[in-house]
Amino acid sequence: MRITILGSAAAEAVPSLWCRCEVCRIARQNGGKDLRRRTSYLIDRDTMIDFGPDAFWQSWTAGILWEELKQIIFTHQHSDHCNPVELGWRRKGFAQNAPALTIYGSPEIRKYCEIIMGKTDMKSVALWPDTTWVEPENGVPLQAHNMEIFSIPARHSAEDARNYILTRDGKSLLIAHDSGFWTEEAWNTIAGRTVDCVIFDGTCALKFADVEDGHMGAAVGVRFRDELLKRGILKKDGLAIVNHFSHNGNSLQADLEAYFAPHGIEVGYDGKVIDL
Ligand SMILES: [Zn+2]
Ligand SMILES: [Zn+2]
Ligand SMILES: [Zn+2]
Repeated sequence: MRITILGSAAAEAVPSLWCRCEVCRIARQNGGKDLRRRTSYLIDRDTMIDFGPDAFWQSWTAGILWEELKQIIFTHQHSDHCNPVELGWRRKGFAQNAPALTIYGSPEIRKYCEIIMGKTDMKSVALWPDTTWVEPENGVPLQAHNMEIFSIPARHSAEDARNYILTRDGKSLLIAHDSGFWTEEAWNTIAGRTVDCVIFDGTCALKFADVEDGHMGAAVGVRFRDELLKRGILKKDGLAIVNHFSHNGNSLQADLEAYFAPHGIEVGYDGKVIDL
């Protein structure tokens, strides 16, 4: 399984439009790993996790071919993760021969897409061609395109937000954002499963290191990874990567690496590729 990090920022990206904070100022100067688009991933060539406001440039830089993309798995309906307007260009009259697409997510995803379409000239998701909607139930494994999807309840402000274990060719990836430190319900849902890699929430970064509700600060992220190890969910030699950063956490890539490296945790950035 090849995972490409298409974006590593929280909602307003880094450097943020309009923002005059020190992190955004330095990020504009530094470029490179300090430029963060909205969080999204490409799995192999056929699956995207989330499809947000940066999907156009992300698809271009990652070389995504639409005829290869079979499915999008949505974590939740916040606007940095789900952009129905860009999905709406699949419509007849805009895209020609748009390939079939399966969309996975909680029932809230389809509801949100329908609301946004209805508020624009794009009218309705019913006009999207060849679209299959699948609503995974938490704790019930589901066979998708050459992949198993296992849904877990996230601790987040969006209704029915999800985390996922994705398994392909004997390797498992846990996506654990946007979420705070999990509730007992989530720990019970995942009990008995193991993963080779976890990518977890680092939104509040170093400035708000102890945040554990809705998102995670850096110290809570380390505790979350430790809990995954303690419960035998993350394999002993498994890979831990922190991702989804807000500029308001007051941390540049070098600051994050200095904090997380001694804990054996890698720090996500746009374009990072992980082979499992
Ligand atoms: Zn987010
Ligand atoms: Zn800023
Ligand atoms: Zn969110």
